[in-house]
Amino acid sequence: MPDRAPQPVDRQLPTDEARDLISLVRDIAQREIAPKAAEEEDAGRFPREVFTLLSESGLLGLPYDSEYGGGDQPYEVYLQVLEELAAARLTVGLGVSVHTLASYALAAYGTKEQQVEHLPAMLGGGLLGAYCLSEPSSGSDAASLRTKAVRDGADWVITGTKAWITHGGIADFYTVMARTGEEGPRGITAFLVPGDAEGLSGAVPEKKMGMKGSPTAQVHLDEVRVPDERRLGDEGQGFAIALASLDSGRLGIAACAIGLAQAALDEAVAYATGRQQFGRPIADFQGLRFMLADMATQIEAGRALYLAAARLRDAGRPFAKQAAMAKLHCTDTAMKVTTDAVQVLGGYGYTADFPVERYMREAKVLQIVEGTNQIQRMVIARHLAGPETR
Ligand SMILES: Cc1cc2nc3c(=O)[nH]c(=O)nc-3n(C[C@H](O)[C@H](O)[C@H](O)COP(=O)(O)OP(=O)(O)OC[C@H]3O[C@@H](n4cnc5c(N)ncnc54)[C@H](O)[C@@H]3O)c2cc1C
Repeated sequence: MPDRAPQPVDRQLPTDEARDLISLVRDIAQREIAPKAAEEEDAGRFPREVFTLLSESGLLGLPYDSEYGGGDQPYEVYLQVLEELAAARLTVGLGVSVHTLASYALAAYGTKEQQVEHLPAMLGGGLLGAYCLSEPSSGSDAASLRTKAVRDGADWVITGTKAWITHGGIADFYTVMARTGEEGPRGITAFLVPGDAEGLSGAVPEKKMGMKGSPTAQVHLDEVRVPDERRLGDEGQGFAIALASLDSGRLGIAACAIGLAQAALDEAVAYATGRQQFGRPIADFQGLRFMLADMATQIEAGRALYLAAARLRDAGRPFAKQAAMAKLHCTDTAMKVTTDAVQVLGGYGYTADFPVERYMREAKVLQIVEGTNQIQRMVIARHLAGPETR
């Protein structure tokens, strides 16, 4: 039995335009992204030029309004684009997802004047965004953040340290949640801070298990002065904005997870149909056939779940519970499928000669970012049983 070359995912897409978009993305992924992924991840190199290309190709603002440089695409299409990018290289898919997350506060809560002034450059002008909620002492309990913004005339002066920031130190703009009032969620306000603001600096990037090409760093804000014109939404609305951003962002993480899992399955099928043991391809053995079948089934289930949530969002219906479910299921699927892919490749799977060991390391972070999978379960349970009583 020869190696089976991976077949492109047969996608349900709503328009011919969406089909063309997926073809364009597959072409960019195969030509510009996948061939360099292993080497650059190993070297810890961030492919900034890929993001410039994606911006020039209209792929950095897909779900946003074309009036401001976006692509006017429904979420169900945008997420499938992310899936294709993540299958080629997670650093790129996740980077686009984080950029979209960072743009959300302005796109959804900014004034018309703010949107006209800033959005076109953010969505189609080659800029790269970062989203700053987490801090060294506040992760899951994000509402306890300590970064402060103090009013000074027409300006705000922001001081504090943000932690774990994807694109920290290299981003062109930062959507920063800072405390402007009381303790807890109601004392937080969102700001759009330019990357070259005086007093803003990125620390040395964290040394991570995977996604080494995606810089994750603390961002220090040392009396960073921004005009009130860069406040997004009302004073005290920042935490609600941060959570609304994450509802949509989690769908991006879910789609990236399915892209990664699909890449691992494709690799496992190709290997299992080519590798011979006991005089037969190992894909002949029922023990492996059933593993491959389970991997494929979990991936299809994950894809259906994130698309169902996206279609609710596209229809203007509540989708937060479904987004949490999609993030939980899809990222757990990515962890399981990438781990099983290593098993299918046996000893070779454990080496850097094949990409599955990298996929397995990369999958782990998806269970942690944008709310750990424990936090997703809390969100889902609150929709079922109401808030905890204490
Ligand atoms: C590579 C990477 C990129 C990231 N990018 C960004 C970014 O761009 N912007 C940003 O703002 N943040 C980012 N983060 C931060 C990420 O969102 C946090 O790591 C995550 O929210 C968890 O916070 P923590 O690490 O402080 O863990 P903690 O909150 O300390 O949690 C530790 C453990 O306790 C569990 N736990 C905590 N509370 C509960 C509870 N109530 N019930 C059950 N279990 C609980 C958690 O699930 C986890 O297992 C990134 C993180 C990583 C690793």
